[in-house]
Amino acid sequence: METLQFQSEARQLLQLMIHSIYSNKDTFLRELVSNASDALDKLRLESFRDKDMQVDVDDLHIVIESDPAERTLTVRDNGIGMTREDVVRLIGTIAKSGTAEFLKQLKEQQSGSASDLIGQFGIGFYSSFMVADKVTLVTKYPHAEKGVRWESTGEATYTIDDVDDAPQGTSVTLHLKPSDDEDRLPDYTEPAKIREIVKRYSDFITWPVRLGGEDINSRKALWARPASEVTEEEYAEFYRHISHDWNAPLETIRMQAEGTFEYQALLFLPAQAPMDLFMRDGKRGVQLYVKRVFIMEDCAELMPEYLRFVKGVVDAADLSLNVSREILQQDRQIQLMRRRLVKKVLSSIKSLMGTRPDDYAKLWGEVGAALKEGLLSDSDNRDAILEVCSFASTHSDESLTTLAEYVSRMKDGQEHIYFMTGDSRVAVEKSPHLEALRAKDYEVLILTDTIDEMWVDSVPAFDGKTFQSVAKGQVDLETDEEKSANEAKTAEFGDLLTWMKEQLEDSVKEVRLSSRLTTSPACVVGDSYDITPTLEKMYKAMGQELPKIKRILELNPSHPLVEGLRRAFAAGERDGLADTAELIHGLALLAEGGELADPSRFVKLVADRVQRTF
Ligand code: ADP
Repeated sequence: METLQFQSEARQLLQLMIHSIYSNKDTFLRELVSNASDALDKLRLESFRDKDMQVDVDDLHIVIESDPAERTLTVRDNGIGMTREDVVRLIGTIAKSGTAEFLKQLKEQQSGSASDLIGQFGIGFYSSFMVADKVTLVTKYPHAEKGVRWESTGEATYTIDDVDDAPQGTSVTLHLKPSDDEDRLPDYTEPAKIREIVKRYSDFITWPVRLGGEDINSRKALWARPASEVTEEEYAEFYRHISHDWNAPLETIRMQAEGTFEYQALLFLPAQAPMDLFMRDGKRGVQLYVKRVFIMEDCAELMPEYLRFVKGVVDAADLSLNVSREILQQDRQIQLMRRRLVKKVLSSIKSLMGTRPDDYAKLWGEVGAALKEGLLSDSDNRDAILEVCSFASTHSDESLTTLAEYVSRMKDGQEHIYFMTGDSRVAVEKSPHLEALRAKDYEVLILTDTIDEMWVDSVPAFDGKTFQSVAKGQVDLETDEEKSANEAKTAEFGDLLTWMKEQLEDSVKEVRLSSRLTTSPACVVGDSYDITPTLEKMYKAMGQELPKIKRILELNPSHPLVEGLRRAFAAGERDGLADTAELIHGLALLAEGGELADPSRFVKLVADRVQRTF
């Protein structure tokens, strides 16, 4: 027998379970039954693929046994089982993405609300330690010579040992804590209690769950039952089973297609983003079944990456049971099905927008940034995605706006949907680029998600209105009079602009007069196709080499500093003028929250200038 240490994250989670104040302790049984059900699915699949596997798959099932005298409860399956290495890896450590993040959040919380977090994480096997002070697991993998016994009290270590005569599959025996009404710990050896829990949480499990020789679950696939007969609670439990999210889903979507390619789908939109939504190894949420038989999870062929937060099941009638990912990728029917699923999800989000705006807003807050990735990757559905997007805007400090709402507020003659990207709302709102638009009361979308920097360059228009960055290109807001006044100014400033461009040659590619400023002396803008400073920073952070990007310096001709510079320049003065040009450029960079190439030099320029006023 060997005694091994739990990995430190695992140890922390176990401690959490042992001292859990999570009120709904019944859920441990759901977790064990769910694991057993997965193990049966896996064995069925394996035996299908590997004809040499000497296993009995005729009567796959889950048995629950209790012994009131010994105070034990056992959940047994004759599924895939685990090898010794599996047990050490799967039960002794937690590989789940998001664990570290989860534990960090937990540390930051008061212990009182920790239980909510437990609920979000979905803790699987370890939840046994909410109700047991010792857990024994015996398991055998079909190709392994011997079985394995694992045992732990949930403290720092566990023991692991070979077993000669272990049956196929896994049994988990809980040595229950004494029942205690105060601690909301019922007597889990009572058959009525077990039956009630299985009925409530695991009724839909496709394998029989047996207690005292009797099947206690109905095993009906929810997606195959008439929608009118399935309760919210049943959907919620099923959702928990497949998603490991303990919250109820925000929306349930059912679909049915008859005819040459028959399928049923049961999909869910989450109330809370999955922990791994923005992690590199994050999963997609759709499982494929064929005629009620589980085939694969995380089925990328059924749902595009940007909809990875959608969880659920697709049951296709006309596929072969041993269909592989390679076959799926080439199957035209699958592609058609995926297209319909995507349309259905997007239309469901749209109808949520109309009928339950608060729920829509919640969903958007959780998964909007993922959904927007579709603007780049799914050009077929771009318009449908744009319709369900919401953005912050200068129209309101609190609520977001849809593009349709923005368009309905557009001014007479306004051709573009104006936006500005940046690191934060505050940074965008304070930026000088917005001045003229604000003065003329034009609405500007405030885009602060990383993904916004990317899609705005590839999405041409919404409802015929093109997107226009207020920090790029020319912003054309002027009346004809203003235009001719400006032309006169440009003539007046011409020589200064040329001279300034030479002075600042290393950092700017053009110096011109601006029509977007009212109070600031200057701002820097990009050409329409230049990348933004935020994007430049992102690329650099990813280690990408970029050529030096020169932007355009725009001057406000009515600002005293700029006007003073022009006068001095026209009078032939040159002393200190180059410093002033540099100063103005620095101010423009600071105003948009940018970084100066040489801050100490800038400080000196400012100090010199202030000194001159004394
Ligand atoms: P999760 O089920 O969320 O992955 P668990 O902690 O419940 O997390 O289980 C960890 C892993 O241990 C499972 O993913 C599975 O590979 C394995 N496992 C748990 N229970 C069983 C079982 N009854 N039969 C076979 N493998 C199991």
